[in-house]
Amino acid sequence: MNKKVYIPESKHPRIVIVGAGFAGIHFIKKLKNKPFQIVLLDRNNFHQFPPLFYQVATSGLEPDAIIFSIRKMFQEFNNFIFRMAEVETIDTENNAIQTDIGAITYDHLIVASGSTNNFYGMDDVQANSIGLKTIQESLDIRSHILQNLERAVNTLDLEEKQRFSTIVIVGGGPAGIEMAGAMAEFQKYIYKKDYPDLALNPLQIFLIEAGSEVLSAMSNKSSKSTLTYLKELDINLRLDTAVKKYDGTQVTLSNGETIDSETLIWTAGVKGQFPKGLQPDLIQRGNRLKVDAFNRLESKENIYVIGDVAYMETAAYPNGHPMVAPTAIQQGEHLADNFLSTHWKPFTYYDKGALATIGKKKAVADLKGKHFKGFFAWFIWSTVHLMSISGFKNKLRVGLNWGSSYFSYDKNNRFIIRKFKRK
Ligand SMILES: Cc1cc2nc3c(=O)[nH]c(=O)nc-3n(C[C@H](O)[C@H](O)[C@H](O)COP(=O)(O)OP(=O)(O)OC[C@H]3O[C@@H](n4cnc5c(N)ncnc54)[C@H](O)[C@@H]3O)c2cc1C
Repeated sequence: MNKKVYIPESKHPRIVIVGAGFAGIHFIKKLKNKPFQIVLLDRNNFHQFPPLFYQVATSGLEPDAIIFSIRKMFQEFNNFIFRMAEVETIDTENNAIQTDIGAITYDHLIVASGSTNNFYGMDDVQANSIGLKTIQESLDIRSHILQNLERAVNTLDLEEKQRFSTIVIVGGGPAGIEMAGAMAEFQKYIYKKDYPDLALNPLQIFLIEAGSEVLSAMSNKSSKSTLTYLKELDINLRLDTAVKKYDGTQVTLSNGETIDSETLIWTAGVKGQFPKGLQPDLIQRGNRLKVDAFNRLESKENIYVIGDVAYMETAAYPNGHPMVAPTAIQQGEHLADNFLSTHWKPFTYYDKGALATIGKKKAVADLKGKHFKGFFAWFIWSTVHLMSISGFKNKLRVGLNWGSSYFSYDKNNRFIIRKFKRK
C-alpha cells in the first residue's frame, strides 16, 4: 500500500467508522472515552441534518443552521480522531481501507456511509436534474431556482419566462412533498412581491409521482389529507406518472405529457452507497449491504454496517428496515452497546411513527396507530425536528428563523452566493 494516513499509536483496538451521518455519530457518542481508538472518516468536516435540506433549498434556512462541526461534536472525547477523507476501497484481506489521503488499517470497520440518489439508469435525468441528498445539493437548488428567476425577468419571450419559472419535483415521498409545499409558499408570499415583472407568469410547481398515492409509506388517511393540502397549495400533481426523459429544458412523462422547465428536482429514489472492494454477493436490494441481526456484514467477523446502507431482513421487515433517521440512530447506538458488552444482542427496531409537513399548519402524523393532521401535526413535526438538530446554537437559529417566518411569512435566505452550473 502507498502513503499512510497519520493516526497516533494506541494500545486500544482501532474502530474505523466511515460516515458521520446519524448512524456513525450515534455509534461514536456511546463510546466516549471507552477503551477503543475511534477513527471517524467523512468526506465533509460536518454532520448534516437531511430532514431540513428542503428548507435550505427553498431559502427558508441558512445552511450553517443544519450542519454541525464534527470536531466540535467530539471535543470532549480523549479516544477520538477525525480525518476528512473520501474512502475509496475496502481491503478485507488486509483489514485496511484506501482513502484519497492515504491508507488506514483497522481492527473493526463500521460502514455507515448512508445513501445517495438513485436515477434508475436515466443518465439524461441524472445529468440535468438536481438531487436533494446533501447540503451542497440543497444550495445548488436554491441558487438554480433564484438564478432562473433572474433570467426569467430578463427575457421578453413569454415561453422562455414560463420555462424559467416552472419547477418540477419528482417523488411523492416526504422529501418531494415538503419541497413542493415550501415552493408553493414561496410562490404565495414572496414571488409576487420580489418579482413584479413576472406578474403574468405564476411560479408553476409540478409534483410527479409514479405510484398511485403520495406518502405511500404513511397511513391512508395521511396520504389523503396530503392530497387535499397539495390541492389547496395549487400544486400540479401527477399520480401514476413517471419521468421518462429530461434534457434540461423539457420533461417528458410516461403519459406522453411534456412540461417545459429548466428545473427538475429529483427525490424519487435512493440507493445505498459504500466504498468499493466488497464481494458482489453482499450487495442486496437497493444497493444495500446484507448484515446479520448484529449488523455484522455477512461472512465478515470485524466489519459492521449501520444506517441506510445496512440491509437486515427480519420477520417484521422482510425487505429491510426503512431508510430513515430513527433506524440509523437505533442501529448506531445498539451496535455501540454490543461493543461494550460481552453478551451481544440482536437488533430490534422500534418504530416511533412518521411525520411529514406540507406547509405552515399543514402536516400529517401517524403516531402509535393514530392519525393527526393540521396544526397539531405541524406542531409535533416542528418540535420533533427542532429537538433532533445537533447543537444548542443550531436549535436556537432554526427556532428563531421559524418563529420570525411564522409571523412574517418571509424566507430570509434568498441569496445566490455560489452560482450553480450544470456539469
Ligand atoms: C431530503 C431528505 C429528507 C429526509 N427526511 C427525513 C425525515 O423527515 N425523517 C427521517 O427519519 N428521515 C429522513 N430522511 C432520511 C434520513 O436522513 C436518513 O435515513 C439518514 O440520514 C441515514 O443516516 P446514515 O447515517 O445511514 O447516513 P447519512 O446521514 O447519509 O450519512 C452518511 C455519511 O457518510 C459520508 N460518506 C458516504 N460515503 C463516504 C465515503 N466514501 N467516504 C467518506 N464519507 C462518506 C457522507 O458524507 C455522510 O456524512 C431524509 C433524507 C433526505 C435526503
